[in-house]
Amino acid sequence: MGCEDLGWEKILEIMLGEAEKRRAPVLELKFENPFQHLIFALMSSRTRDENTAKAAKKLFSRIKTAEELKNLPVSEIEEEIKSVGFYRIKARRIREVSEIISNEYGGEIPSEFDKLVKLPGIGRKTANVILTAMGKPAIAVDTHVHRISNRMGFVRTDKPEKTEKKLKQLVPEEFWRKLNRAFVGYGQTVCKPLKPLCSECKFNKCCPKVGV
Ligand code: SF4
Repeated sequence: MGCEDLGWEKILEIMLGEAEKRRAPVLELKFENPFQHLIFALMSSRTRDENTAKAAKKLFSRIKTAEELKNLPVSEIEEEIKSVGFYRIKARRIREVSEIISNEYGGEIPSEFDKLVKLPGIGRKTANVILTAMGKPAIAVDTHVHRISNRMGFVRTDKPEKTEKKLKQLVPEEFWRKLNRAFVGYGQTVCKPLKPLCSECKFNKCCPKVGV
């Protein structure tokens, strides 16, 4: 039996349950609106989640909207987000994105994928994360989603874009929005990149890569 035979509702329920029990960092993150989610994503590259969370907490205690952020001097943004890697570059990018959203989109994040990926620093994965946060059906494939999908045999792909395409064919649309959080949470706590906890994993009877 392949893990897919469990059905997607069950698979995601198990992953989320385990991630919650083990307090996966991704589940601890709370955002007041998709704009904060977007800024978090811009800060998070090459930075540990806890450092990004620390910077986000400081920054979001001062600003809530693109309009507010675009009026903050870059030096002050730098000061707030010092705990993230490459904070100077990221501070300028955050300001730039806030200006575009404020000036071109009236302060509202565009809800079309093609517009999102035109924003500086926003790639395919982040655009999909934001669409998900806005309630649109999308599958954001990051390193956890890509790795686990391949380990569990749902896909056999060498690139996240291909994983996204394949998952969209496999997974009913009603589950797309849940998938990223479930897989990321599971990847942070059980099916880790190195030394996955296969003996504790609820999928070890069906996973072809058990003991990887
Ligand atoms: S059995 Fe191991 S490799 Fe397979 S999903 Fe579980 S933790 Fe990951």
